[in-house]
Amino acid sequence: MQARHPRLLSNALTATFIGAFTTLTTTATPAIPAEARAITFNKACESGTRITIAAVGDILYHKQLLYQAFRKNGNFKDFWSPVAQILKRADLAYGNLEGPAAQGLAAGGRRVRDPGRRLDYRVYGYRLPNVSFNYHPSAVFDIKESGFDVISTANNHALDRGWRGVDRTIENFEKAALPFTGTRKSRDDDRPWSVVTPANGISVAWLACTYSANGIPDPHKQVLGCYSQKDEVLAEIKRLHDDENIHAVILTPHWGSENSHYPIRRQKALAREAIEHGATAVIGTHPHVLQPWEKHATESGREGLIIYSTGNFISNQRRMPERTGIIALLELQLGDDNKARLTAAGYIPTWVVIGGRGHRVVENRGRMRWALNHVKRVLPSGNLVRSDDLPRLKKSCAEGDKGAVANWGLTIQKPRKVAQTKKKKRRRKNRRY
Ligand SMILES: [Zn+2]
Repeated sequence: MQARHPRLLSNALTATFIGAFTTLTTTATPAIPAEARAITFNKACESGTRITIAAVGDILYHKQLLYQAFRKNGNFKDFWSPVAQILKRADLAYGNLEGPAAQGLAAGGRRVRDPGRRLDYRVYGYRLPNVSFNYHPSAVFDIKESGFDVISTANNHALDRGWRGVDRTIENFEKAALPFTGTRKSRDDDRPWSVVTPANGISVAWLACTYSANGIPDPHKQVLGCYSQKDEVLAEIKRLHDDENIHAVILTPHWGSENSHYPIRRQKALAREAIEHGATAVIGTHPHVLQPWEKHATESGREGLIIYSTGNFISNQRRMPERTGIIALLELQLGDDNKARLTAAGYIPTWVVIGGRGHRVVENRGRMRWALNHVKRVLPSGNLVRSDDLPRLKKSCAEGDKGAVANWGLTIQKPRKVAQTKKKKRRRKNRRY
């Protein structure tokens, strides 16, 4: 979200009009060519060590969500408890935390008394029209506890609490032992922008960058720019790719136009260049809505996946495309050349339920048919998976059948029975939406 958001205008009529207008124009869904309805990979059926990566979009704790998190027994992770099992079962789970988690800092990074777990609209929370995010440090610990293994901290809100905010946020990530990428402390100017997460013998390097920091000064160069430092981004990808101890590189850029399903020219150019320089996948965030998937093969035949935008994971944005997100699932397999390659990719559609008990991210299994059809129009419908099917989906490796849609060898298991009962209750509740 940029500093001024048209949806938040006080005049309801105007807001409704703008909402309707943007739905018809900027969020018009693109038609996907038939051949792009399922993305598959040539090496899908080769054997070897494998891991599964789950990637979600923006974690945006708007003030309504802060209010919920600060309630008695509240926290920053229950928002997605209905899908937390999917994140936990994946070998690596990734998300973008859109804003600092810096105690005792007001907007701009001014040092003030910390109010504790309270929405004081100075340290935590914001007053319109300036949306300046900051989250309680416990958010970082809760995110870690809910199954995330790596977080991108490079986004347009990274400097909402100034350079000190970046420092304090990083200190909290370090205390929580949660790997992050895309920002660095004011004194760590030689620290790499990337971070490496090992899983099942496969080391994945993550590199985050952002198109902008909303024009807030960055005196110590703490936030990596996707375009302003493009040469550095590409050089880092190449360095990681050339490192024999690293098996895969994933670029997670924060980029694109808000509320648009179409990647802009420079997104496309950077994504393709990233893969040419050695990235295995590019997973984008920021537009608040979904953007298409694309496979890009290098001249040597190495296949890379571009997910232009995973949409919002959790937020208080209320239009249908903004409440629609995905958990992208990528399967990587270690090849003979000691590099991991993509063998499968899929997505589980998610939906933000906004109810009496607060906001919840649930899997959209079809009850929100409107939103599900929208997902299928933007993304390759052949890659849609249900979490129930994950344990049963088998690889289709018969001769001539390579590249079949069900190219899965995932080990994610069904949530336990208790969770299912809760889910049924939630489903009844969701009918209102
Ligand atoms: Zn953003």
